[in-house]
Amino acid sequence: MMKLTVIPGDGIGPEIMAQVVRVLKHVHAPFEYEEHQAGEVALNSLGELLPQTTIDSINKTKLAIKGPTTTPVGGGHKSINVTMRQKFDLYANVRPVRSLPGVQCVCSDVDLTIVRENTEDLYAGIERMVDEDTAESIKRITRKGSERIARYAYDLAQKTGKPRMAIVHKANIMKLSDGLFLKVAQEVGWQYPEITTKDVIVDNACMQLVTKPQQFDVIVTENLYGDILSDLCAGLVGGLGVVPGANIGANHAIFEAVHGSAPDIAGQNKANPTALLQSAVMMLQHVGENAKADAIMKALIAALSDVNARTGDLGGKGTTVSFTDAIIQRLGH
Ligand code: NAD
Repeated sequence: MMKLTVIPGDGIGPEIMAQVVRVLKHVHAPFEYEEHQAGEVALNSLGELLPQTTIDSINKTKLAIKGPTTTPVGGGHKSINVTMRQKFDLYANVRPVRSLPGVQCVCSDVDLTIVRENTEDLYAGIERMVDEDTAESIKRITRKGSERIARYAYDLAQKTGKPRMAIVHKANIMKLSDGLFLKVAQEVGWQYPEITTKDVIVDNACMQLVTKPQQFDVIVTENLYGDILSDLCAGLVGGLGVVPGANIGANHAIFEAVHGSAPDIAGQNKANPTALLQSAVMMLQHVGENAKADAIMKALIAALSDVNARTGDLGGKGTTVSFTDAIIQRLGH
């Protein structure tokens, strides 16, 4: 058994997390669950958005599933996700993007994964005012950072049997920084002869993703481009409400839904657990429980196809609990 830190979060978080844990228990996922708080609920009860007890738990279990958390307005609180990324050096942001039945979308046959470098680039926060009318941001790209994200992406492609890698960059303009990223990623790619690599300039990648997303299996890219492309791709398959995500480091991994805490529907048994459940599927794949991951995904897709089962946000008649019942029913015993 593996210890798993469960962070229900705020708003609809506890409702959808309860249902996801129910599904995990139904398939006998090999976890011992340790529940901890983060977000507004933690701020109100323990005085901190990300309490030390939650950090200690993740340090110990090295594996966490997190519901959405509400960001308090004002007060200068540091983002929970940024804090966790820095504390656990979660260098890979992984976003699988897949069209699902019953989910209205621009494109019905998308199945790709974006692997975004999570620690460098313009997001490293190296900024200064040169004078009162001039600001500078430093784009920092290192061989180490580029190599580990490329290796993660190629390993993922290999493990999941995806034969096509696209390295997305702007090395034609930023010849040193993006040039280094591209060169290092290509060098890593040479070690995976069964995977075909192409490099795509980021503006062309946007156009290709909107017009012909089926040509992509795995995309590896820098932090800023990855941030933008991840949401563009989520838009292709029905929006941020249905896509899962993971932040992964050398020693720790945190899986979460990408959507927010939806305070407008919290406590009403209306929330759709699809995104968080898909994050749980990613987590099972991450720990090598592929059969259980496949079984849940198959049951989820079958339940989504049924208008009586799926939740109201997808035009269905189901509730958070009844939709989960439908998934569990399709999983069998
Ligand atoms: P939101 O994603 O919470 O809600 C946007 C709309 O989508 C709402 O109408 C909501 O009802 C709907 N929605 C979202 N998830 C749904 C689900 N699972 N099922 C059915 N409907 C769903 O975005 P927001 O309103 O901008 O943000 C609310 C709070 O969440 C804010 O405090 C924000 O900072 C926080 N937030 C947290 C995360 C995170 O923890 N990863 C991400 C985004 C926003």
